[in-house]
Amino acid sequence: MTLRTRFAPSPTGFLHVGGARTALFCYLEARHSGGTFVLRIEDTDRERSTEASVQAILDGMQWLGLDWDEGPIYQTQRFDRYAEVIEEMLADGRAYHCYCSRERLDKLREDAMAAGLKPRYDGHCRDLKEAPEGIAPVVRFRNPDEGEVSFDDRVRGTISISNAELDDLVIARPDGTPTYNFTVVVDDMDMNISDVIRGDDHINNTPRQINIYRALGAEPPRFAHVPMILGDDGARLSKRHGAVGVMQYRDDGYLPEALLNYLVRLGWSHGDQEVFSLAEMVELFRIDDVNRKASAFNTSKLDWLNEHYMKSLPPERVAQELAWHFKDQGINAAEGPALEDLVAVQADRVSTLKQMAEQSRVFYQPLEQFDADAAKKHLRPVAQAPLQALAERLDGLEDWQPEALDGAIRSLAEEMELGMGKIAQPLRVALTGTAVSPSIDKTLWLVGKEQSLQRIGMALAFIAERIAENPA
Ligand code: GLU
Repeated sequence: MTLRTRFAPSPTGFLHVGGARTALFCYLEARHSGGTFVLRIEDTDRERSTEASVQAILDGMQWLGLDWDEGPIYQTQRFDRYAEVIEEMLADGRAYHCYCSRERLDKLREDAMAAGLKPRYDGHCRDLKEAPEGIAPVVRFRNPDEGEVSFDDRVRGTISISNAELDDLVIARPDGTPTYNFTVVVDDMDMNISDVIRGDDHINNTPRQINIYRALGAEPPRFAHVPMILGDDGARLSKRHGAVGVMQYRDDGYLPEALLNYLVRLGWSHGDQEVFSLAEMVELFRIDDVNRKASAFNTSKLDWLNEHYMKSLPPERVAQELAWHFKDQGINAAEGPALEDLVAVQADRVSTLKQMAEQSRVFYQPLEQFDADAAKKHLRPVAQAPLQALAERLDGLEDWQPEALDGAIRSLAEEMELGMGKIAQPLRVALTGTAVSPSIDKTLWLVGKEQSLQRIGMALAFIAERIAENPA
């Protein structure tokens, strides 16, 4: 039998970090063995499910590159199938109608609590001879009374629970709509899912689901329940921690490669290796190696990985992601150097692509003015002669490449018997308006010949004005 996994999000919000990690684990487990990865949208809760959220999940998966082989399959398109199975179960008593009122159920619960027992439906309607009039019943699954349910969780080990602790689960609401624990079993059965990998918040549902599989004559899949992700304060990761949708990480300037690498290490390791390409993850990842302890989110590690990938991925790849940030920040990438050239220069100077775009505006837009402090400090009368000479030399330079540019500045500095800084700093302010930029040859290269000469002219005009205002 080939391995089949599925990611089954409920579309009630964005694809959050925990969901993305589950999706990644399902994806890796399938890819590793040449199996199939299914995407199923669990949208039966019509009040909480939204179109926008479905889209956010698909966008997040696509951005991360977690491509699925089958789906998206929508549960709302399978209502006929669920109804059919419920009918079959009702017909032979594997399920039954329950007419118990809210009051009766509340009373049962209160009595159990008062007696210090676990609240549990008492099976009152199991063998009802006559259906009461005028009440829309729920459908309950007739859970076995005896024995125990046991399964070998691939992360948590063997888990057993006595059937005496499980009651008859509601599998359809009074309006006929099926409930989660039922639809998930019918789907995993129909879709031949061999391995269910999901968050351990579902672990208490699993024995109940296994009983339903058995009632349907199906062999349950293998299960792996992955531990939750904690915030840096040890509490379950939530919005409060800034734990947000995957796309927020895109917006904040992270590469999908960095986020995936970060996510795979939340609960899984391979020796002390920290950096994994997706191909390596596919090769090395085994769900059985996932740690059962919860892991904590650590933003500085994510930043470190992002810096690593910005520097080490091919610049053309980083440029693809950077292009989004240019659009987002309203910078026209066509108005300046090729993005891959920019990436080659800026990759080790910033932590995120968002910062890279912010700090590169000057290569794509006209320079409006010089920063007042930087200009005051560096665009002084002494800089006039070197900038003037440099402008002439650069004007005659054919080869506008970092090496030639560096040579031109160096030889000029030597001829004028000036330290490099005496030329480079005024030039830097002239080109970028500020005293901070990549190395001066790279800065010239990125600004381009025409703009460089124009900006040096602007700096010379600034100095001339300054001399005119304060004649020596
Ligand atoms: N739809 C469920 C959720 O979003 C997951 C169900 C499952 O993986 O079995 O939590």
